[in-house]
Amino acid sequence: MITLIKNIQELLQVRETSIDKVSGSEMAILPSIKNAFLIIKDNLIEDFGSMENLPKINADKIIDATGKVILPTWCDSHTHIVYAGNREQEFVDRINGLTYEEIANRGGGILNSAKKLNETSEEEIYEQSKIRLEEVMHLGTGAVEIKSGYGLTVEGELKMLRVIKKLAENYPIAIKATFLGAHAFPTHCKENKGGYIDEIITKMIPEIAQNKLAEYIDVFCESGYFSVEETEKIMQAGIDFGLRPKIHVNQFNSIGGIQAGVKFNALSVDHLEVMNPDDIQALKNTETMPVALPSCSYFLSIPYTPAREMIKAGLPLALATDFNPGSTPSGNMNFVVATACIKMKMTPEEAINAATINGAYAMGLSETHGSITKGKKANLILTKPISSYYQIPYAFGSNLIESVFLEGTILE
Ligand SMILES: [Zn+2]
Repeated sequence: MITLIKNIQELLQVRETSIDKVSGSEMAILPSIKNAFLIIKDNLIEDFGSMENLPKINADKIIDATGKVILPTWCDSHTHIVYAGNREQEFVDRINGLTYEEIANRGGGILNSAKKLNETSEEEIYEQSKIRLEEVMHLGTGAVEIKSGYGLTVEGELKMLRVIKKLAENYPIAIKATFLGAHAFPTHCKENKGGYIDEIITKMIPEIAQNKLAEYIDVFCESGYFSVEETEKIMQAGIDFGLRPKIHVNQFNSIGGIQAGVKFNALSVDHLEVMNPDDIQALKNTETMPVALPSCSYFLSIPYTPAREMIKAGLPLALATDFNPGSTPSGNMNFVVATACIKMKMTPEEAINAATINGAYAMGLSETHGSITKGKKANLILTKPISSYYQIPYAFGSNLIESVFLEGTILE
């Protein structure tokens, strides 16, 4: 099956040779071709170029993209899409003046989600989660990482990871699974934190690795959650079973989580709302991708990741949603890109790089996703007619997507 898309006003994120990420000043460069064509063969990008150089081909389908922009689908490297119920009551409690920590201390927060998760059947969790997955696919996301972390029991965590696996089998979107047993201490281990960490290390990790239910391991490294020492212990246990770390750090406090992540060669360190100069320094010349989650900052009214300082220091940066029921009940990457421009002062070029190629890197997918490159997955966003791609962050509340291609097929 060959599809030709012609007269594309602008084809964005064109990378002739495959790259894995962009860093520092390179982030400001978003290579593109104006008045372009793109050829899809089956599920892959076969060819692209300027309309002047359009080869003679027998296409099965021809799409005229006059006035429209094409870019690779978003790569959302940090989500908690699989969960049960919601936490809209806590949302209203916060409006009425309670803090995130006060809500957590009342048995709300992550423990509230864990209670609901454990009370809900695997089938029902799948049914609820697939609605959210379908929604983000229609919003232009073509690759997504999903974490466990609302089970906090051996059975609950395995149940979540099986749901993630089933979603990956049933949908044409690339899904990467991360084990986040160390998301919070469950109620039954409040007085026995060491006991819960032992359960993670001796029961959960071996079982998950044996059943190939996750590729990555995550820890919520934060004051009141998991200390740096505990985070390192859990990361090491994951690494021993082939799970690479991708960790939550520096959301509310800078306690050394970034340095620990770098020491254990984490694929990414995520959140980073609170960054010291030492934290930025620690990330220089490493394989670890910093990931910002601006929708979370927006929803909780906490600081935004200091993107300008980080990019100035030569670091790469990825953007993701953090889609979860407590702190970010939205999986809209278009909003993330707009918020990064509006609140973090990233340029549209930087934000699009962060939400495509760097997001792909942060989940080990840059060989197949995140840019318009021959041989990569034909995962594309085709916009409605727009004056330029600046509209994507500028018109922040509008849906500018006309169609989404996943694996070469238009999503219905
Ligand atoms: Zn998160």
